[in-house]
Amino acid sequence: MRKPFIAGNWKMYKTVADAVSYVDQLTGLVADVTDVDVIAAPTFTALYAVAQAARGTRIQVSAQDLYWEREGAFTGEISGAMVREAGAAFVIIGHSERRTLFGETDVHVNRKAAAAFTAGLTPIVCIGETLAQREAGDTFEVLDGQIRTGLDGFTGDQVGQLVIAYEPVWAIGTGRNATPGQAAEAHGHIRTRVRQWFGGEPAERCRVIYGGSVKPDNARELITQPDVDGALVGGASLDPKAFAEIVARSRGRV
Ligand code: PEP
Repeated sequence: MRKPFIAGNWKMYKTVADAVSYVDQLTGLVADVTDVDVIAAPTFTALYAVAQAARGTRIQVSAQDLYWEREGAFTGEISGAMVREAGAAFVIIGHSERRTLFGETDVHVNRKAAAAFTAGLTPIVCIGETLAQREAGDTFEVLDGQIRTGLDGFTGDQVGQLVIAYEPVWAIGTGRNATPGQAAEAHGHIRTRVRQWFGGEPAERCRVIYGGSVKPDNARELITQPDVDGALVGGASLDPKAFAEIVARSRGRV
């Protein structure tokens, strides 16, 4: 059985002081949660402070991005080794905001995920279709391309460790979430492709989480769908109580 995985993507919110205070509040709220992986993804500037504040708690830390080179003249970029040194265990890769606003492609996603593994980080690889692609009936084709290129060259063992976040672009930050049926259909498709392309064992181990306007009141029905192993939460993760509520609603599945 896959352990549920609930990650909060704080995007470009929270000062270092806000971030540390959040961790202090969340720590108590999830103190007894041993059956769910609870992840916080702060900004780069707060990463080290959050990792320090989270030591010895149930909270694990993720970066929101990395650059694939180890070091060098890449102004403004941060490597996997740096992210790891700051205390992160995970890194979000290919978020739709990175793809849409910063021109990231599936090839970039592939390089970044490879760099994450090299640095000892677990990638959370985001995929998902736009509204136009869904309405054109292209959802599965889009997901297939993102999986094929994004995970190209990875071993079954690596894919088994991965977290894949299915985030329909039309559901991110819009308040419009996928129906439980739409989520189950897409997640089933993703797991089938992982099975076909990487094998049965990786497909059983790999966690496929849903993202897109997850809130405390819709979390349970989404997270309990077949093949949905948790959630990547944006807006609702900014409030520790709402985030802890989402964690609570994912429990009892291990
Ligand atoms: C996200 O940022 O990955 C996300 C899913 O955001 P929201 O929950 O706000 O839709």
